[in-house]
Amino acid sequence: MTTALYTHELCTRHRMGDWHPESPARLASILDYLHASGLLSELVRHEAPAVEREALLRAHPEHYLASLERLQPQEGLAWADPDTALNVFTLEAAARAAGAVTAAVRAVMDGAHANAFCAVRPPGHHAERAQAMGFCFYNNVAVGVHAALAAGVERVAVVDFDVHHGNGTVDIFMEDPRVLVCSSFQHPFYPYRMFDIDRPHIVNTPLDEGCGGVEFRRRVEAAWLKRLDVHAPQIVFVSAGFDAHARDPLGGLELHEPDFRWVTELIADVAARHANGRIVSVLEGGYDLDALARSVDAHLQVLRESDRA
Ligand SMILES: [Zn+2]
Repeated sequence: MTTALYTHELCTRHRMGDWHPESPARLASILDYLHASGLLSELVRHEAPAVEREALLRAHPEHYLASLERLQPQEGLAWADPDTALNVFTLEAAARAAGAVTAAVRAVMDGAHANAFCAVRPPGHHAERAQAMGFCFYNNVAVGVHAALAAGVERVAVVDFDVHHGNGTVDIFMEDPRVLVCSSFQHPFYPYRMFDIDRPHIVNTPLDEGCGGVEFRRRVEAAWLKRLDVHAPQIVFVSAGFDAHARDPLGGLELHEPDFRWVTELIADVAARHANGRIVSVLEGGYDLDALARSVDAHLQVLRESDRA
């Protein structure tokens, strides 16, 4: 069994201005580093297809998709919120980002690959049912979760270790106990919403600014492990943001590559116990180009190792 990598060149054409931290250079940095480390040659690389509209409509209402299509400009930028802009390629890029996840779900469910990582942008976990925000348009992970549910999966887990809270994913699955959402995040911090929702299937783990690896591991293990084992997910999704890294210019947490390796091992162990190892991991944040690339490499080393188990 193998680890798949889904990406697409169109994901680099979405641009929000030269100053914007959510830049195409993020994907280039990741792929260059994976090539140099040798890990890229151990992954099976796939071109991400464009997502089917039916798949998007499970996570987002038609009026929202239509409003994004009206907003997308022919040239220049159109702003969906003060941080989040569309250029002429944005919705094509977003369609590949979400399509990467649905294709990864199919491949992992079919047993074609043990697990998969989607190196895509724009990211997705801030996108609510009908609200683009925080650099996100389509909630890529939520679209993938719905694809798994539509394929007959009964219990899903989403693990989100981005420095920002996954408000969009919580919004979309707040009323759906089939989907356990575990999210760690700096608090108080952007996006300042949905973080206080407390339900058996919504596990919010706020972390103080400056929180380092020891505290992160203690809090995550205490809050997530039992919930994940009780839920017994048949597939595990990861909102893999690496902006909790100490070097990240946006986040204020103090994690390092071994912490991302540790949390990935925790996720892989849960997936091995309950989900036949099925993991679909999707890139969210991470804005220091070097720290991002090294952290993705550490994350993928664990996925690659666990697929041999
Ligand atoms: Zn983030």
